[in-house]
Amino acid sequence: MQVEFYRHSLEEKDMDNVLAVLRSVFLTSGPVGAKFEAKFADFTGIPHVVALSSCSGAMHLTLLALGLAPGDEVITTPMTFIATSTVIMHCGAKPVYVDVEPDTGLLDASKVEAAITPRTKGILPVHLYGAMCDMKALAAIAQKHNLFIVEDCAHAIECSRDGVRPGEMSEASCYSFYATKNLTCGEGGAIACHGADMAALARQLANHGMSKNASGRYHGKYEHWDMVAEGWKYNLDDIRAALLVDQLDRLRGLRQRRQAIVDRYDAGFAGAPGITRPRAPGTSAHHLYTLWVDPERRDAILHELKGRGIGVAVNYRAIHTLTHLRNTLGYAPEDFPEAYRIGLSTITLPLYPKLADDQIDYVIETVRDVAK
Ligand SMILES: *Cc1c(COP(=O)(O)O)cnc(C)c1O
Repeated sequence: MQVEFYRHSLEEKDMDNVLAVLRSVFLTSGPVGAKFEAKFADFTGIPHVVALSSCSGAMHLTLLALGLAPGDEVITTPMTFIATSTVIMHCGAKPVYVDVEPDTGLLDASKVEAAITPRTKGILPVHLYGAMCDMKALAAIAQKHNLFIVEDCAHAIECSRDGVRPGEMSEASCYSFYATKNLTCGEGGAIACHGADMAALARQLANHGMSKNASGRYHGKYEHWDMVAEGWKYNLDDIRAALLVDQLDRLRGLRQRRQAIVDRYDAGFAGAPGITRPRAPGTSAHHLYTLWVDPERRDAILHELKGRGIGVAVNYRAIHTLTHLRNTLGYAPEDFPEAYRIGLSTITLPLYPKLADDQIDYVIETVRDVAK
């Protein structure tokens, strides 16, 4: 049996929406993106949404809009995708890592205060695998020390914890619509924030720092545009936004299927020798299903699963151990022992709504056999 690592849940309707854009005048950021932004604001409950070409771009612009500058520090996690750190470095600032909780893999709020220095400007937590960090604890620390919080919500749209949803207790939350994310248009992202000023600034910085975007130049009478800041090119075009508008309506339903798959996996791996897995506090978005196995055998298990037709990944090897970040930031692997250990033990299994029950059972049976 073959079990692919990921399959999207796009439907004919979404593809028709793309064709409608292709048949219209406007291909870049325009009315479809604006419609998605309004719907996403409604979904998240956060008033201002800026649709962008990636979550990396979203985090970069958010940090710039918050005034992050060379010499500043941002506290974040080494158990994440590299973008969570590189966006801090794009601003000339330094990622300062705090280790993760041993049982969840989430940024350990109890260790954050010890990492604060006079240069610390903010905290960038990641809701890993779809499970939320302890936002109440992080927000209390941020308030006490006058720090901003920007949430990396690449794994986390449809989740909550302690009655808190992403974006509710921070300056901004940043989302990814990358090919394998729960909501996808291939490549895409968004900022959701509370301040109209921050959204306007992010929108301007996403478009070269121009005073008008293409839609503004197309509609209405001719007016010169100005360059008012040095910006980037991070806007989302309407071709890709067209894949998101109706897909968003299905997201909660798709999460139900993800939950059922996770329940089936959990039951299948219960008591299996050599297999444990992170605890997911709150209501997880169930973006990724990861297991922890013997670090000595992890790579052999990965190869064996791949050989038996199962798509696997590692989310993640602790990023402070990767060559460039290790050389640039100068951390040793053991500086963050929990993240390091998790990074050596992790295997990510297929998790997506289209996964059939017999595929799930094949994965369970094969993993149990290989890991024992
Ligand atoms: C995918 C991902 C990103 C980057 O998202 P892009 O849209 O590809 O820029 C950032 N953080 C985490 C945790 C991710 O998984």
